[in-house]
Amino acid sequence: MVAKHTLYIVATPIGHRDDVSIRAIDTLKRVDRVLAEDTRHSGSLLRHHGITTPTVSLHEHNEQQRVSSVLDWLKSGESLALISDAGTPLISDPGYRLVNACLEAGVMVSPVPGASAVIAALSVSGLPTDAFRFVGFPPAKSAARERWLSTLKADPHTLVMYESPHRIQASLASMQSVFGPDRPITVARELTKQYETLLHGTIQSVLDRMKADVNQTRGEFVVMVGGSAPVAEGQFELDAVIQVLSPHLPPKTVARCASELVGVPKQEAYRRVLHLAQT
Ligand code: SAM
Repeated sequence: MVAKHTLYIVATPIGHRDDVSIRAIDTLKRVDRVLAEDTRHSGSLLRHHGITTPTVSLHEHNEQQRVSSVLDWLKSGESLALISDAGTPLISDPGYRLVNACLEAGVMVSPVPGASAVIAALSVSGLPTDAFRFVGFPPAKSAARERWLSTLKADPHTLVMYESPHRIQASLASMQSVFGPDRPITVARELTKQYETLLHGTIQSVLDRMKADVNQTRGEFVVMVGGSAPVAEGQFELDAVIQVLSPHLPPKTVARCASELVGVPKQEAYRRVLHLAQT
């Protein structure tokens, strides 16, 4: 069943074309029109599932102009579905302006949930998933990307981002320089498709594997980076002591003095000295 005057936000597969819910197929069959990011691209998925509903394009470049006709269709009693090329609409995909306009106009918006690369990737990342921060695509230019990464460096949550094949290596190189080489990372490539691959390791080790095998730079990527190590109680004091002593003494001496002054084990102080030296 679909309701009149309602816009359904329908998730479609991120690769394997059978990763779509029974309700999504039913909704797409029953609505009056399907708003699709790329009607030709979505055509093959719709045909595969026997969906013959008329499609109308709604993409980044015409979304603003489309909003008023879509609102008219909805107000006249139609039910509509929005889909994107892959996964969940609005997640690094068009639809924000339309959904916002519907809510402002008092029109019902209802989700038909399903695949999204960010969630699929996190579920197999091996990194903490209790809290995470999804940040979309990094900036394309390296200076802007490094500034952007610097603002994320201290975040304790798992960072999740999308990246394209043209920039995956350059992006990992930026992460290596801003976060340091040892942060844990998982790169999920081509999820649910023939060449699905997960690379786990440190930023350095995953970057090395990509450099050694050009195939690892092909396809679609979700990059997940372990959050910054939590700051323990007393850590601020330890860091402050290390920062005062480090310019004047060798690392091992700094660690010994800091350990005595703050009352933490020498090894812990030394690990912190090395960590702060990299940041
Ligand atoms: N709306 C989509 C979603 O819910 O996942 C994301 C759209 S965004 C324009 C496309 C990006 O998602 C790709 O460049 C890639 O970073 C990521 N992505 C999509 N499908 C993927 C897959 N099968 N494997 C890995 N990453 C994927």
